[in-house]
Amino acid sequence: MSDAEMAASVTLRSMAEIAERAGIPQDALIPYGRHAAKIDVARLGELDASDEPEASVVLVTAISPTPAGEGKTTVTIGLADGLRRTGSNAMVALREPSMGPVFGMKGGATGGGRAQVAPMDAINLHFTGDFHAITSAHNLLCALIDNHLHHGNELDLDPRTITLRRALDVNDRSLRQVVNGLGGRASGVPRETGFEITVATETMAAFCLAADLEDLTERLGRIIIGRTHDGEERTVADLGEQGAQGAMAVVLKDAVLPNLVQTLEATPAVVHGGPFANIAHGANSIIALNTARRLADVVVTEAGFGADLGAEKFMQITGPTAGAMPNAVVVVATVRALKFNGGMGLATLNDPGTAGLEEHLAALEAGVVNLGRHVENMQRFGAPVVVAINRFTQDDDAELAWLQDWCRDQGVACAVTEVWAHGGAGAEELAGHVRAALEQGRTAEGLFTPETGARERIERIVTEIYGGAGVEYSALAARQLADLEAAGEDRVPVCMAKTPYSFSDDPARMGAPEGFTVSIRELRRRPGAGFLVALTGQILTMPGLPRRPAADGMSVVDGQISGLS
Ligand code: ADP
Ligand code: MG
Repeated sequence: MSDAEMAASVTLRSMAEIAERAGIPQDALIPYGRHAAKIDVARLGELDASDEPEASVVLVTAISPTPAGEGKTTVTIGLADGLRRTGSNAMVALREPSMGPVFGMKGGATGGGRAQVAPMDAINLHFTGDFHAITSAHNLLCALIDNHLHHGNELDLDPRTITLRRALDVNDRSLRQVVNGLGGRASGVPRETGFEITVATETMAAFCLAADLEDLTERLGRIIIGRTHDGEERTVADLGEQGAQGAMAVVLKDAVLPNLVQTLEATPAVVHGGPFANIAHGANSIIALNTARRLADVVVTEAGFGADLGAEKFMQITGPTAGAMPNAVVVVATVRALKFNGGMGLATLNDPGTAGLEEHLAALEAGVVNLGRHVENMQRFGAPVVVAINRFTQDDDAELAWLQDWCRDQGVACAVTEVWAHGGAGAEELAGHVRAALEQGRTAEGLFTPETGARERIERIVTEIYGGAGVEYSALAARQLADLEAAGEDRVPVCMAKTPYSFSDDPARMGAPEGFTVSIRELRRRPGAGFLVALTGQILTMPGLPRRPAADGMSVVDGQISGLS
C-alpha cells in the first residue's frame, strides 16, 4: 500500500476532537478546512500556569542518509504515537514540507506507512499557506528594494552589494543567476541577482526562530539588504520612512500561528515552519516547539538530515533560542543507509537479492562507524542517546541482530522500530527506552557560550563534530571573518551549510572519514536569524531538479491526487 493509500484508509478525527486531546480550548482553534487548524496562541492564556512542569523535548536525528531519507519524520511520528499508547501525554512538532523536494527527488515529508501526519496531500502542498506567505513577504521586501533604486535611491545603495535574492519554493536551477530590471527606464534599475529556495531564505530562518510576531518583526528589520556606495551596511529597517519589516509582518500575521494536525493514530501534531538543514538551521518553528511544550508532557521533534547538521544546529541555534534543549536524543539508523555508508551501491541496496548475506554484513560492518560517530557526538551534549533502528521490510534478521549486538557492545540503548508497518505499536520498545532516558532528568547543553567567536565555533564543529583535521578559509571568507572579528560581530552561532552525505564537505566521503579539511567558501551574516552562515564546498541555496523528478507521474484523477509520496 502506498503512503497515500494508507493515509486514505484511515478516518481522521474532527479538529475539535484533536484540539481536545491536545488540551486546546475550542475558541483557540482557527479551522483551515476540515482537518487542519491554526492555534490562536494568545487564547491558550491560562494554560500557562508556571507551576506546571516543563515538557520534555525528545530530539529525533539520524545517521548520514541515503538520498531517499532514513525515516526521521516517520520515527518521530511513530514514537509520539508509541509514547501515547503507553501512557505519556506526547505531541509531535514537525517542519512543514517544502515543495522543492516534494516535486524533486525526495518526495513529501509527512512520514510513511502507518506513521504519518495527515492530511498528507494538504500538508505537502499549500497547507495553511504559510510558505506562500513567507515567499510573498520575502519577495515584497525585494520589490521594495528595487523600487527604492528606481525612485532615486535615497539610501545611496550600491546595487552591486544587494545580496538579498528573491525566493521561490520550487527547485529551479535556471533562476540561480538572473538580471532583473531589464526593459528600459520604466522597468527599474538593471542589476545582477538571483533566486533562493524559500526554505533557504533569512525570512524563513527568522520566522522559525522568532518567539512571536513582535519578535519576528524586529528580526526582519535587522536583515541586511546591502551597502551604500561608502560601504555602510543598510538593513530592512532603513528602507522607507519606517522600514519594510512592518509590511512584511502584515503579510505574515496569520502565518506565525502554528498549525495543528493529527497523526494517523490521532496524536496531536504541530507542523510549522521549515528551513532546510543543509543550507539553513533545519528545525520547525520555535513557536511550534514552545506551543507543543505548553500543551504536552513530552514533545517529539525532528532535526533535518544527519546529526552533524540538524542536531548540531538544534543544540547550537534552535534549542538555546527557544530555551528548550533536548532531554533525550533519538538517532535513527537504517541497515540500508549503514550499508550505503559502508560502500554498497544504491543498485544493490534497491535490489538486495543481487548480493549474498556475507556481502551485506560486510558492508554493514564497514558502515557502522557512521552511526558510531553520530552517537558519540550526540552523547557529548549530555542528554541520553537512544538508537532507533528503522526496520525496512527487506532487512534481513541477521543484519538487524548484528546491529543490535553492536549497540549493546557500545552500551547504547537501542530498539528495532516498526512504525512504518505497525504505527505506534511498532514503537513500544523505543518508547520505553525514551521514557527511561527522560527519567534520568538530564538536559543537553551546547558546546559554546554566547561569547564564543565564530572562528572557534567553526573550528570545533569541524574537529569535534565532523571529525575533521581542520578548516581552510578562502581568501574571501578569511577577509570576512577578520572584518567580523575586528567589529566584534563574530560572537554569534554559526549555521554550517554542508552536504548531508558526508561528515566532510565532500559528499563522496561516506562512513566516518578522517584527516579531511573543510573549506569555508564564504560567510554570510544573517542578523535577522541571529546567526552567521558558513558556506562549505559546493552547497547551493537554490537546488535543481533531478533528471526524473517526482513531479513526473503526478496527476489528479476524479479529484484525488495521485503520485504524491
Ligand atoms: P527523513 O525524515 O529522515 O528524511 P522520512 O521519514 O521522510 O525520512 O522517510 C523517507 C521515506 O522513506 C518516506 O517516503 C517514508 O515513507 C519511507 N520510509 C521510512 N521508513 C520506512 C520503513 N521502515 N519502511 C519503508 N519505507 C519507509
Ligand atoms: Mg524528515
